[in-house]
Amino acid sequence: MARYTGPVCRMCRRENTKLFLKGDRCHTDKCAVERRNYAPGQHGQGRIKVSDYGTQLREKQRVKRTYGLLEKQFHAYFDKADRMKGVTGENLLVLLERRLDSMVYRMGFVSSRNEGRSLVRQGHFLVNGRRVDIPSYLVRPGDVVELREKSRQVARINEALDGVMRRGLPSWVELDRAAFKGIVKTLPVREEMTTPAFQEHLIVELYSK
Ligand code: SF4
Repeated sequence: MARYTGPVCRMCRRENTKLFLKGDRCHTDKCAVERRNYAPGQHGQGRIKVSDYGTQLREKQRVKRTYGLLEKQFHAYFDKADRMKGVTGENLLVLLERRLDSMVYRMGFVSSRNEGRSLVRQGHFLVNGRRVDIPSYLVRPGDVVELREKSRQVARINEALDGVMRRGLPSWVELDRAAFKGIVKTLPVREEMTTPAFQEHLIVELYSK
């Protein structure tokens, strides 16, 4: 599956928001948004009047980039969310959070979703005892996500797990650190998806045009 391979901090600067794409670095003063809080490029420091369309577009880009998706994939999630019962914008965020790469990030096995995607692809995780190497796999309440036995010595995973207390776990997951096992307790809770803070209604407005 295609993916963005350019400089990731540039995306945060473009969206003028910390999207937390680089793990621990995002929490230090080395973060590019902290150091250069203006858009990249020649006109990045100029004053630009943003239209309603521009605001909606930027919000869509923020969410899409946070979850590391390309346009076509993101639109497919939106279509699926739109067909579901309930509020489309909220459905969209819940679907994105249910992706396995996002879930292993929330459980603390990795320090960013990008890293989650790469480790899932490499086959480090089991879901309900079966190996799953598809980052877009959608987990359900009750699923057990477990690190494979032979992956338990991987230093960066252990560092991420040790650091998870600092970041904190959302209410919809539970972690058994000693057993390298995470449990999906409930569907992701919209009120807790606050970093970064999204305004998903703008995406609904954008795609409804
Ligand atoms: Fe880079 Fe992370 Fe800062 Fe974004 S939040 S600019 S990915 S260090």
